[in-house]
Formats: sequence, structure tokens, C-alpha cells
Amino acid sequence: MRTFKLGGVHPADKKISKDAKIEKLPIPEVVYISMGQHLGAPAEPCVAVGDKVKVGTLIANAAGFVSAPVHSSVSGTVKQITAIKDLAGKPSKTVVIEVEGDEWEESIDRSSDIVREIKLGQKEIVERIKCCGVVGLGGATFPTNIKLSPPPTAKPTCVIINGAECEPYLTSDYRVMMEYGEQVLIGGEILMKALGVDKCYVGIEENKPEAISHLKELASKNHPRIEIVKLKKKYPQGGEKQLIDAVIKKRVPSGGLPVDTGAVVQNVGTAFAVYEAVQKNKPLFEGVLTVTGDCSNAQRNFFHRVGTPLSFIAKYCGGIPAEAAKIVSGGPMMGKAVVNMEAPTLKGSSSILYLTKKQTLRHQESNCIRCSKCVSACPMGLEPYLLNKLGRVGMMDELEAHYVYDCIECGCCQFTCPAYIPLLDTIRQSKAAVMKIMRARPKK
Ligand code: SF4
Ligand code: SF4
Repeated sequence: MRTFKLGGVHPADKKISKDAKIEKLPIPEVVYISMGQHLGAPAEPCVAVGDKVKVGTLIANAAGFVSAPVHSSVSGTVKQITAIKDLAGKPSKTVVIEVEGDEWEESIDRSSDIVREIKLGQKEIVERIKCCGVVGLGGATFPTNIKLSPPPTAKPTCVIINGAECEPYLTSDYRVMMEYGEQVLIGGEILMKALGVDKCYVGIEENKPEAISHLKELASKNHPRIEIVKLKKKYPQGGEKQLIDAVIKKRVPSGGLPVDTGAVVQNVGTAFAVYEAVQKNKPLFEGVLTVTGDCSNAQRNFFHRVGTPLSFIAKYCGGIPAEAAKIVSGGPMMGKAVVNMEAPTLKGSSSILYLTKKQTLRHQESNCIRCSKCVSACPMGLEPYLLNKLGRVGMMDELEAHYVYDCIECGCCQFTCPAYIPLLDTIRQSKAAVMKIMRARPKK
């Protein structure tokens, strides 16, 4: 069975919400739509206080090359354009909309019919994806149209759809594959057409056998150019570079682009959003989110309208569990701690995960015993113990010389360290500092 070569770890998968079908979350009375929905420059509002909007109305334009437009997820009146704190407590420019009914833009096809024929041409597809504000939903939220416009030197040969969902607890991609599998595969066909390639793979880990057989059956009926690839369960298989290695056995060179291998990777949720944008003219204003955790009575998957406060979702699910000591947005390995439950959901929100005190306990750090477990676990071939040491004394040139910028912040090193050294925390900070220096350097 295929997997990536270097490193990786095996956290318990804990997919306890996997059988919960995707429900439609009620629409709150007010939504808070952040302009920072994506990687790159925040969008710039194009509505004013008092304006009436419908579901799908453009409310903000992309503000640069790496940026994406934002659309209203509700119908109602713009009440404020102000700074609202995000889940980490950091202020972010936000359009606040008071909800009135649920009136959609007429241009959106709301029927449940599956549209198979792809009428748009190559350039029109990329333009539609751009206008609909589609961004990568696997965590990075990189604008999808940019990935579909590779540099002239790159020669794309295939699309890889990321169905690994290797983070413990998360089940939103799994549910999308089970309930909207045909739309995901049509999304794969659209992505192939946009890139002018003839091959698409969907990589799914072995712990999702139902999704593998379901998509295999759908592909065998209607999509002969799409191959479903069963992957050995190993974290971080969903990392772009790891998935490319696992599926087509090619390694992205240090400092290179994934497309240098010929592969363009898109997440399952993104493929679904691409289908909806291209075949239904539906902008990206809702997503699928998992509510889960061992201490949670609610194990559920929802379609949420972007801008819904996390507190609204928690309340709808019966409140925050009493034993929850930490709330995470995303998975336990790479997710972000939520310090502000009034923060709204974003396009890329994938979960509300409740962790107990025992699960979040930080053990007392001891000295490095030079066991090299962190080196064996690193999927990027780095030396985490060394990066940690260099980072603690601020040796920036040496950190750069040891490729700290290649770190994908997967946390495998910290997960495996018997001395409980917070390797990821130090390495993440060092990486940010080194990359700042690298970006400030004059280009040759
Ligand atoms: S967090 Fe960085 S250094 Fe640690 S294992 Fe992952 S890629 Fe390697
Ligand atoms: S895993 Fe921890 S103890 Fe072992 S070499 Fe790495 S930093 Fe040192």
C-alpha cells in the first residue's frame, strides 16, 4: 500500500463523528464575515453600512494577486464594517450583517440536480473559480485560481485530490466524500480541464474503507480518468508534499513548488467547492464543519454559513462540555487553539474540537537524550533537535542553513519526543523569523 517515504507518526484516529451525516446548521441572527478568509492580502469591502445583500452577493473584492473575493453567506442588511476579534483574539476587518430571511442571488443554481457536462472552457473555469472566491480548504486557504495558473516553466501532468484527512477527529472530508462523492469527482474533472491534464488521483487513507469503495464505484461508472488510491494510514499524509510522494512517488525539491513534480493538489472540500462554483455558479460562502471530542455529547457534521459565531454552534450542540479544557479549530496536531468563542467561522473552518485537561496536559520538559526519534519522525528530513537548539539561541544563519523554512509545522517531532521538549513551538517561531529575513533580502 502506498504512503510517503520519510518519517511520519501514528496518532489514534478518533473519527468518532464519522457516521454523523451533514446537517444544515440554522442561520444565526447576525453573521460576522471576516475579510481575512484566505492566505494573502485581506479582501477590501465593496458594500457600505445600510446596504441590502442576498446570499451570494459580493461584499468584498480581492485586494492583490494573492487574495480572494468574499460573498455574503446570508440575506439582510449590512450593519457595521468594523474590527472583530478572530479565534486567537486578533482584530480582523469584518462585515457585520443582520439576517433577514434567506434570499439567494438568482444567478445561483439551487436545484439538487447533479450537473455533469462541463460547459465552461479552460480560462473561463479559472475565472469562475476566482470570482466565486474559492480557496483551498485543506488548511492553507490559498486562492485556488492561482494554483490553477502555474508558471509557464511548470508542466502539470495530474491532479491529486486530497482525501487523506489524516488529522485525528476530523470527519468533514469523509462525510463530503460519502454524501457528495459524485460532485467531488466532477470537481476533479473540472480541475483536469482547467490544467489541461488527463489524469486525476484521489488519495484516501485505509481507515476510510467505505469512502474508498464508494468513490471507486462512482469513478468506475462515470470517470475513467480518475483513480482512487488507497493509502496506508500515517500522519501527515494530507501534507501536500507527503501526498505527492505517496501517490506518484515524486519528491518536491527543497525550495521548489509542488507543481514542479507535475502534480496539483486540491483538497476534497475544495473539489466540491469547485464543482459548486463552476456547475452551479455558487460562491464559497458555506463549508462543512465537525463538532467533536471525547468529552462532547455532540458528534456532528454541519454545513455552516461563513461568519457564524463559534458560540452559536456550541450552543446549538448543547453547550461547551464541562470537561473541555481546551477548544481547537482544526485537528489536534495542526489546529489552532480557540481563545475567543465569539469569533466567526471562516471559509476554511473544519472543526470545533473539545479536548480534556488530560489530553492537553503539558509534561515537564527534560534534557534531550539524543535518541533521534524526532529525526526519524520528521517527514521533511530535518533535524528537529538541532533546529530547537539553534532556535533557542537565535542562530538565524545556521537555522537557514539547516532548512528551517522547509518545516511544515506538522508537530511529528514534538509528538514523538520522550523528553517532552516543545520542539514545534521553538521551530515554528524560528521559521517565521528566518522567513522574514529571507523575504526582506533583495532579489537577485
Ligand atoms: S514540525 Fe517541522 S521539524 Fe517537526 S517534524 Fe514536522 S516538519 Fe519536521
Ligand atoms: S526526540 Fe527529543 S530527546 Fe530525542 S533527540 Fe529529539 S529532541 Fe532529543
